[in-house]
Amino acid sequence: MATVGICSMLQAQISQPAELAYKVKNEAFNQSQVDSIARFMTDNLGPRLAASKMKLRAEEKVVDKLKALGFDNVRVEFASDFKKGGWDNEKNYVAMTAPYYCSFAANPKAWSGSTDGLVKAQCILLEANDTTDLAKYKGKLGGKIVLMPPTREYELSFRPMAKRYTDEELAEMSKDTRPNNSWGRRGAGNPAAKALRNAIDSLIKLEAPLAVIVGDGTFNIPGSRGVNYKVGDAEPVPEIVLPLEDHGRMVRLIKSGENVEMELDVQNTFTDNQKINNIIAEIPGTDPKLKNEVVLIGAHLDSWHGGTGGADNASGCITMIEAMRILKSLGVKPRRTIRLALWGGEEQGLYGSKGYARNNLFNSDENKKLPGYDDFALYLNMDFGSGKFKGVYLEENDMAYPYFEAWKQPLVSLGFDTFSPRKVGSTDHVSFSRLGLPAYQFIQDPLDYFRAYHTTMDTYERLSLNDLKVNAAIVAWLAYSAAMDNTHIPVKPGFPKNPD
Ligand SMILES: [Zn+2]
Repeated sequence: MATVGICSMLQAQISQPAELAYKVKNEAFNQSQVDSIARFMTDNLGPRLAASKMKLRAEEKVVDKLKALGFDNVRVEFASDFKKGGWDNEKNYVAMTAPYYCSFAANPKAWSGSTDGLVKAQCILLEANDTTDLAKYKGKLGGKIVLMPPTREYELSFRPMAKRYTDEELAEMSKDTRPNNSWGRRGAGNPAAKALRNAIDSLIKLEAPLAVIVGDGTFNIPGSRGVNYKVGDAEPVPEIVLPLEDHGRMVRLIKSGENVEMELDVQNTFTDNQKINNIIAEIPGTDPKLKNEVVLIGAHLDSWHGGTGGADNASGCITMIEAMRILKSLGVKPRRTIRLALWGGEEQGLYGSKGYARNNLFNSDENKKLPGYDDFALYLNMDFGSGKFKGVYLEENDMAYPYFEAWKQPLVSLGFDTFSPRKVGSTDHVSFSRLGLPAYQFIQDPLDYFRAYHTTMDTYERLSLNDLKVNAAIVAWLAYSAAMDNTHIPVKPGFPKNPD
């Protein structure tokens, strides 16, 4: 009977003392460092394109910051090779000079080339419905500036600038709609459109115009994009993103028979840095049996080059750093190690988190589990903008529910009470979730994320500091709860197996 008694005391999911919940919230809301970390992450670090000089500069500064905050084992850790290498914009001047003068807010595409100083030329609109239409441009593009046609029309929007989820929307998210779910389904793509794109790329390479201009982004805010390039390739033609309005104006002028000219001075540098790094910091575990197990919390440090990556994804880094700071300031002694990871190269294809998984968890070349796999207790990722956490997407893992149900109690009053079975994509938790591991992305109020991300307006202003304070309290509590629990969320049955 006594044995049974001891076993039942070791229940799988446990809540931590209410006094600690109070302390976490008090530190998060009354001693917050969110604003100073936010200014550091955006204004001070600037843009952080994967492998760029600015990203390397950010890595050094972030390491210093994390050391100053007193975290343990702070380091830059190699994650993955990166064939594109580094790219930084050094100068960017773009204007229309005929039929009249107007300078534009412009954004060169990452990994595209430089102009030969200040250049001025006539603009040609390249219009083609299929590959045969391209013949008429042969021999005509050299020395000119090529305008690509608009890819979409501007439409008046009656949607609010920013929004929070309603109770109804959250209730809907918590429902399991399998087998009729639509998430994760992909279209087949359009082979004719792809062939045309490839033919245009070849024509541009051959004709080598002075520059290529594309339209992307509205309200005079250009989007941030990149071109195909790898170290050793010839430097691509300069390619510049203009907002739909300025791009559309020049396209309409050309179509009405006006002579349109532009002048440009765009200087970009390429560096042979073919590496993606992550930044790691820890609060070490103290339980002799559990300290090698890891509760991982993270967000991606890299950004696109326009703006300062405010919502995408300084917001995630700020939340995770502040959560670590809260726990550190309370002097907690977690049983498992709590590890912060600020990933590199997410925007170019999850390079940092995939590299971490390949180096520590599962070697897919040898189809072999690595020691870190069994020690992986949980991963919590933030990358859906600056909005408040409303709950977690549980990646169809029924075994995760009882853990979050036990841990959530002090967080319900903060609005954190929705657990969705859905799988969500396109960010770093996928690198672990695809291995069957418990790795989750938060459900977040959308705010103005989809207007701003991947544009030059993704800056400090896109951060909602009060939302980030709540998020930091939630991460601190969940990470500590997971680090103290008697067990961790099990991997999905049938794993590990090679996901590729
Ligand atoms: Zn992101």
